[in-house]
Amino acid sequence: MSRFTVAVVGAGLGGLALAQALRHRGIDVTVYERDTALNTRRQGYRLHLDPRAHDALHQVLPPALMELFAATAGTPKSRFTLLDNDLRELFARESDEPAFAVDRLTLRSILLAGLERTVVFGKPVQRYRIDDAGRIEVRFADGDTARADVLVAADGINSIVRQQYLPHARIVETGVWQIYGMIPLTERTRKLFDDNMFGVFTMITGNDGSFVGVAPVEFTENPVAAAARLLPGSTLLPVPDYMTCSFGARAEWFGSARSSLRDLDGGRLHDIVATAVRTWHPRVREIIGHCDPASLFALPLRSSVPIPAWATTSVTLLGDAIHAMSPASGSGACTALRDAANLARALTEAAAGRELRAALRDYENHMIEYGFTAVREGAGNGQRFLGQNPLPIE
Ligand SMILES: Cc1cc2nc3c(=O)[nH]c(=O)nc-3n(C[C@H](O)[C@H](O)[C@H](O)COP(=O)(O)OP(=O)(O)OC[C@H]3O[C@@H](n4cnc5c(N)ncnc54)[C@H](O)[C@@H]3O)c2cc1C
Repeated sequence: MSRFTVAVVGAGLGGLALAQALRHRGIDVTVYERDTALNTRRQGYRLHLDPRAHDALHQVLPPALMELFAATAGTPKSRFTLLDNDLRELFARESDEPAFAVDRLTLRSILLAGLERTVVFGKPVQRYRIDDAGRIEVRFADGDTARADVLVAADGINSIVRQQYLPHARIVETGVWQIYGMIPLTERTRKLFDDNMFGVFTMITGNDGSFVGVAPVEFTENPVAAAARLLPGSTLLPVPDYMTCSFGARAEWFGSARSSLRDLDGGRLHDIVATAVRTWHPRVREIIGHCDPASLFALPLRSSVPIPAWATTSVTLLGDAIHAMSPASGSGACTALRDAANLARALTEAAAGRELRAALRDYENHMIEYGFTAVREGAGNGQRFLGQNPLPIE
């Protein structure tokens, strides 16, 4: 085992990807997750992954899990299309980069495979302290404590570790809310979508700043069959092919409902969206009509505000914990996976004898540069396409 131990807070995409790599490289790692299981909270459905995220997964996953990822990842056309609410094309962009459309829960389940004894569920971290010997003591909500030499904040946008470690790092509202849901793809529902709508993302814009977004998840092989074939003994939940369907607008657009959007049930959210598109092209109305009300939930879009580099210690961060970004760039998860691969490399170098702080400093300098670049890009795209507020002056 390694000369040092690593505690990771959060079993999201980044935390699990990091743990996969460390465990296979013989580095002593434990992940502490607040939720009691992977599927206790709704976090969204489809994730678009770019080639850098694919490359990161290739670095962190053992070959059998990478094969399972490849078997379950959809490969939509690399096309972004902007339509008006009469379904006339306003803008289209083809990318020559391959794109992957994956189901979030399927990906997280793949990332968890083999880590059942590394991840402790139902263990919310409350704070940490560095003791006189320089070791980290993590304190949990239930009063327990654990010790480690390195602490990694992988606890997402509301990161409790970041709030203690970098209290000046801010999270801001972008002014836009989105309602997310999905439509299972059947022979009948497939006909609602043009061929072009099976690209990376299609956005249909209203005349009042509201918008509908659709994007497919079409499994190369159904997750259950792929897991049975490639990793007997593992379980992936059954998921049909589906179209994600979202509706967004500025907070003001929702009027009096805006203060309670998070708490509204799916039926009420469905009514809001159906009313919003009642004068749109009949096919948009039908798409919304087929959206499963039970799948709907609302979230405000938020972003981190980039900060300058800080002095490196044995506490570090990855993913949304440090560079949460508007989904307008579709790269929050991609960047978290990239962080995980880079941090795993830094810790592997340290395990091989490199000075730990120097390895972590190199990781942080690089991560700060590409992570906050992605935050600024997300804010720019969000302003252009979603009507987001600009990022505050940094
Ligand atoms: C609807 C939606 C669609 C998105 N689509 C895309 C997309 O297409 N492509 C893309 O690249 N990105 C997308 N994103 C962004 C992406 O989901 C995030 O950037 C990504 O999940 C960040 O990964 P993470 O590991 O940093 O954090 P998370 O995945 O948020 O994981 C954080 C984990 O920490 C746990 N945690 C929190 N607090 C504590 C605590 N105190 N103690 C212990 N555990 C804790 C949480 O329960 C969670 O499991 C989307 C986001 C949303 C909301």
